[in-house]
Amino acid sequence: MPRHVSQVIQTVQTLEGGGFLVRRPFPTPQCSYIDPFLLLDQMGPVDWQPGEAIGAPDHPHRGFETVTYLLSGEMEHKDSQGNYGKLTPGDVQWMTAGAGVVHSEMPTAEFRERGGITNGFQIWVNLPAKLKLTPPRYQDIPVSRIPEVVLDDKGSRVHIIAGTIGNTTAVINTHTPITFLHVTLQPGVSFTHSVPPSQNAMVYIISGNGQFGSEAKSASAGQLVVFANNAEEITTTALSEEPLDLLLLGGEPLNEPVVRYGPFVMNTREEIFQAFQDYQSGKMGAIS
Ligand code: MN
Repeated sequence: MPRHVSQVIQTVQTLEGGGFLVRRPFPTPQCSYIDPFLLLDQMGPVDWQPGEAIGAPDHPHRGFETVTYLLSGEMEHKDSQGNYGKLTPGDVQWMTAGAGVVHSEMPTAEFRERGGITNGFQIWVNLPAKLKLTPPRYQDIPVSRIPEVVLDDKGSRVHIIAGTIGNTTAVINTHTPITFLHVTLQPGVSFTHSVPPSQNAMVYIISGNGQFGSEAKSASAGQLVVFANNAEEITTTALSEEPLDLLLLGGEPLNEPVVRYGPFVMNTREEIFQAFQDYQSGKMGAIS
């Protein structure tokens, strides 16, 4: 049985990091988070002139995970744990900030020089209270290791970033059960994916338009379709003349208090103060 659609959220445009454009369905004043997801940002698309591309210089995180998925452009990651990574289209970086990490997320020098289109996603996944101070973990997965399921011979396919389809499972390890699929459907093609009713589930439309859920609700690029927890099946049909390109996210809600301030997400105000203190006293390290 298909899930109902509970709401369709329009993205707002805002500036992040050093001042780059993001399209953000949440957090906004209308919707602060969809448990366990704390933030969903589409970074771009922005067409940078040579020399202009910017990113997010050194900053800390504690208490959750940052997931970066690049569609276009080139990004470079450095962090206080000594990790270095370069992301090109299709690559995924899943960073568990846990107890605390300082990192930078910048365009590569070559990309900045050349210019071009940046597009991709950053998603923040909350950690349960008992894992908020877990040691940091860094998973840097190139597109060649992201499992792909081919749905037809016309180009409909799914990249499995987290979760399982049939007997194909993602290579990324998550602390709580997470589904993260990048689905591309050619015009007229339908797709169904089961997510346990206990989990919250949503679809962010990157391009094209389609119908979603039991009521065949229409939605299009830049909208987030949030599903009700009445059943398992997430259903969609591509309606546009161009392919329908979307992200499908699912996760088990933590049902714990969320106290967030900037780059820190904890359960109490005291823990936020502690995070600031630990960052300022250098306990989260620095990028060498
Ligand atoms: Mn960051």
